[in-house]
Amino acid sequence: MKPFVGQGREEVTTAEELTPVDDHLAAILDMLPVPDPIELRLSDALGLVLGAEVTSHVSVPAFPNSAMDGYAVIASDLVDAHEVGPVHLAVAGEVLAGGSQLPTVTSGHCVRIMTGAALPPGADAVVPVETTSGRGGRIAFHRPVQQGMHVRTPGEDLMPGQPLVAAGRRLAPADIALLAVAGVARVTCVPPPRVVILSTGDELVPPDHEPGPGHIRDSNGPMLSAMVRATGAIPFSAGIVRDDRKALMYAFDTNRGHADLFVCTGGASAGTRDLLPDVIGALGEATSVRVAMKPGMPQILGRIGECPVIGLPGNPVSAFVSFEVFVRPAIRKLQGRRDVQRPSVLARAGETLSAPPHKRGYLRVRLARQDANWVATLTGHQGSHVISSIAGADGLAVVPEDVTEIPAGGEVRVHLLVE
Ligand code: AMP
Ligand code: MG
Repeated sequence: MKPFVGQGREEVTTAEELTPVDDHLAAILDMLPVPDPIELRLSDALGLVLGAEVTSHVSVPAFPNSAMDGYAVIASDLVDAHEVGPVHLAVAGEVLAGGSQLPTVTSGHCVRIMTGAALPPGADAVVPVETTSGRGGRIAFHRPVQQGMHVRTPGEDLMPGQPLVAAGRRLAPADIALLAVAGVARVTCVPPPRVVILSTGDELVPPDHEPGPGHIRDSNGPMLSAMVRATGAIPFSAGIVRDDRKALMYAFDTNRGHADLFVCTGGASAGTRDLLPDVIGALGEATSVRVAMKPGMPQILGRIGECPVIGLPGNPVSAFVSFEVFVRPAIRKLQGRRDVQRPSVLARAGETLSAPPHKRGYLRVRLARQDANWVATLTGHQGSHVISSIAGADGLAVVPEDVTEIPAGGEVRVHLLVE
């Protein structure tokens, strides 16, 4: 039977009007440009994706050096050394880390040496100070030593031509160390995307203002800025924009120059002041989409010039969940990352988890370890205006489209909000 349309219809939205979550995500990802890597200082590159492989031009260590504080010796001098019949060697000098004056070690002599100091010519082993006795000019050695013992050899860590970091890898602190030791001071990386955030709504006041009658504080703006920053991108707040065509046009227009992505909230649904699709459409192109999910159904996808625009619903929980589902993967793609999704775990439902028919439910849950399982329990009231329900969440429990209820004890996939 055909559903009612318009006033008097049975459901707000029918199944046929809904776009699957994965289709909407694919449409967003398809629209994004391929990012262009740029050259950056190594100190600015943490977390960024490397555009091209970097190989070493040098050997590390560059010179043989000591792995211990002790004495540089000629191993063959100590073949007869014994616990009770030590070999004595005369101290011919000292080398500190960074020292460049290297006394030569000749038979019958040793040189005092510190960790990291260059091995003096003539020496072929280092004996740790703890295994010797005597001090001053003559040192007693109580056991033989193998050639090369406690000596770090050139190229042991890196050789010229050796790949340091592969293209496409996201630079971690240890990669930064590797590049630094190899003398790579600049790297070609995908720069952090700049994300302009607009909160739209006549009812909104900034968090440091006292709301007048009917007004509320803008929580989406600060939340989305924080989420963008936590994703490793650069947020720009365009502030609060009134539900007014001209004000919205002006906000988009003045922020175009520094946006790789626009993210707006509010004005996406069916209210009389929901002007966003119209305004974005006038500046470029826009589609209003009803996505088969709860929360987060009304979404906007658009483009102004080359810049993609993602419009999220105004309800804070809907904005939060749709950021996780759509905006974070989009930012990760703009960052050049291939792993656009956060990890998920399988858990047991700690209580009944329900979602409407034909929609994917994203329920805010806390995770606890019980025996060998993760157990997911709701963070409280699941209304899409209840901000405290997202603040306490470790993850989003996903109730599939063809399921309306996961019973307590049932298996559920949980998209993690932490990494
Ligand atoms: P809308 O998508 O504009 O219809 O808004 C849906 C609900 O979200 C309404 O209750 C709005 O007051 C609320 N809302 C919209 N924008 C924000 C925001 N920036 N911060 C907090 N709540 C908002
Ligand atoms: Mg609104």
